[in-house]
Parts: sequence; C-alpha cells; structure tokens
Amino acid sequence: MATTVIEKPKVDRSELSFIPDLVYFEPGALEYPKGKRIMAWVEKEGIPFRMTTSHNRITNLPGDSELEQYRIAKRTLVVGVRKTLKFDQSKPSAEYAIPIATGCMGHCHYCYLQTTLGSKPYIRVYVNIDEILKAAQGYIDEREPEITRFEAACTSDPVGLEPITGSLRELIEYMGEQPLGRLRFVTKFHHVDSLLDAKHNGHTRIRFSVNAKYVIKHFEPATSRFEQRIEAAAKVAKAGYPMGFIIAPIIWHDGWEEGYAELLESLAKALPEEAKNGDLTFELIQHRFTKTAKNVIEKRYPKTKLEMNIEKRKYKWGRWGQGKYVYPDEQAYALRMFISERIFEHFPNAKIEYFT
Ligand code: SF4
Repeated sequence: MATTVIEKPKVDRSELSFIPDLVYFEPGALEYPKGKRIMAWVEKEGIPFRMTTSHNRITNLPGDSELEQYRIAKRTLVVGVRKTLKFDQSKPSAEYAIPIATGCMGHCHYCYLQTTLGSKPYIRVYVNIDEILKAAQGYIDEREPEITRFEAACTSDPVGLEPITGSLRELIEYMGEQPLGRLRFVTKFHHVDSLLDAKHNGHTRIRFSVNAKYVIKHFEPATSRFEQRIEAAAKVAKAGYPMGFIIAPIIWHDGWEEGYAELLESLAKALPEEAKNGDLTFELIQHRFTKTAKNVIEKRYPKTKLEMNIEKRKYKWGRWGQGKYVYPDEQAYALRMFISERIFEHFPNAKIEYFT
C-alpha cells in the first residue's frame, strides 16, 4: 500500500516580514521606549537574544566559517543607540543621509554595503529617533531658506525593518510638519502598510527599486518579489505620497532590451492612474563595482553570474579613494537612451532625475 506523504506547505518567506534569528541589545537601548518595545516583541516571538556592550562590536556571532557567519549576520538584529549624530552627505539624491539603521537582510549580490559595512554585515537599528530628528532639525535650520532633503536608505533598507522599528513612520510625520524638511527613501521591500495613513503632507518621496526580471531573479535574493514591490508602489501612490522608481543596477545582459522594455511596460500596467500621471521620478544607475567589491562579492556569492570583468569595463576615477568600473561609454549610452525612451513612452510626465 502506498504511503501518503503529507508535505508541509512551503512558506513563501517573501510574504512575511523579517524575523531575525538572533537579537543583540545594547543596555542603553532599553532605556528608550523603542528599545523596550522591540525587547517585548523579541520575547513574545521567542527569539533568542543577548546583551552587547556596543552595537559596533559584535564579536561572538555563531558560525564555523566566514561565509556562515556572514549568512548568520544577515539574520542578526542589533538594537542600539546612535551616538554619531553628524550626518553624511548623500549626493545626488539628497543633501544628507539620516541614520536610522545600518545593514540589511537582503542578499543582493551587487549591494555596496558588502564593502562599506566590511566585517559588520549584521543589521543595526537605532532607538534614539528623537535625538536623530533633533540633529536633522539642526541641518534644516542651517540651510534655511533652502529645502533640505534627507535620504533614509543610504546604509540599509528601512522598509524591510519598519514592522520591527516603526522609525520611518516617525520620520515621515516629523518631516510632514517641516516646511523646509523632506524625506526620501528607496526600497526593495513591500512592507508599507503601516505608512499608508501617516501624515506625510507630501514631504516624503517613497521610491521603489525595480529591475529587469533577469536581475531580480539572479541577483536579489531575500528581497520582496517584483509584483509585491509594484503592489506596494500602487498603495503608496493611492496614499498620496510623491513616488518614484530607481532602476539600479542597470545590467547589460543577454536580452536586456526586452528585459527593460518589459519592466517599464509592467510598471505602466500595474500603477494606478494617479501615480502614472502624477509627480513620478526615475533614477537610473548603471552597474558599477570597485576591485575591493569584486573580491568580496566573489567570496560571499561564489556562484554569482554577476559580470565583473574589468577588461570589459571603463575605469572611472573616484573623487575620494579608489575608482569604479562602469560600462564603456557606448554601452552606457545605449542603456541610458533605451531606458529613457521606454520611460517617456509609458510615463510622459515623469522626470528622470539622473543617470549615473
Ligand atoms: S535590499 Fe538594498 S540594502 Fe538590502 S541587500 Fe539589497 S541592495 Fe543592499
């Protein structure tokens, strides 16, 4: 007699919001309401946690090899207090980077956090949002009467962490009340529901990072699916947020024309009219890498199909430190022209902020 095997239904992790495997707390973080709230959530979920003296020094992560430790770090949350309240610049998309989190649970092979975070790929969230906002206010006052834009996704993907921290909502509502303050962030995650009724006053621009199917499939594991991102984009458009798309990294691959044409066509089909005809921006960033990044990526994602052949690239000198490898001018031009034309075909009122 044949035995019936009852298979457990497969859980599609991309439907769920991020639940870390391990959490570290700085003792000081528990003095803030947000720290206490996260601790209560960790206990309720039964997630193992440890204490740490500093969110910058997590030295006892489990894992036998460097690679295993890296994978575990990407599922480890560290809850701390942000001490450096001097903001970095964030050109060209904003004036300053507002630090509410560092690190990301996504596994995008090309992600520049691979090199900028070095040996600290774990995810840090900061609980002292009031102090961070006070520092932001200082920057706004300094630039008066100019508008000051803050980018909240320079070192992380804060939307993926929003169900845990609620920090973006606080930033959005704060900037909503600032005549001269604006917020921007970009995401590959779809967890926007708690932001939809925030009082944004049109002062926050939410951008979704999208790409050709080939790029999402091969290089963006552990992020939300394309359809989920678009559904989230439609929701934020209906909630009246200014919005936009970042197509990055634009990657030259077999069939790239079809891939990017299909991307723009599906965006046009999926977006509600108010988003299509409204104040929509596009930012275009071609794939680039440094020699250091190439080495790290090859170690962490040894089977990656990401093309990083220096011979096929153009070297672009960096203003600070080492330069980057971008596409040769002819290829970069072809990508730029083709994608820009498709954008204007489907979204005649859109603004392309830059191609870099
Ligand atoms: S989602 Fe963004 S921040 Fe996270 S790994 Fe991917 S590119 Fe990096």
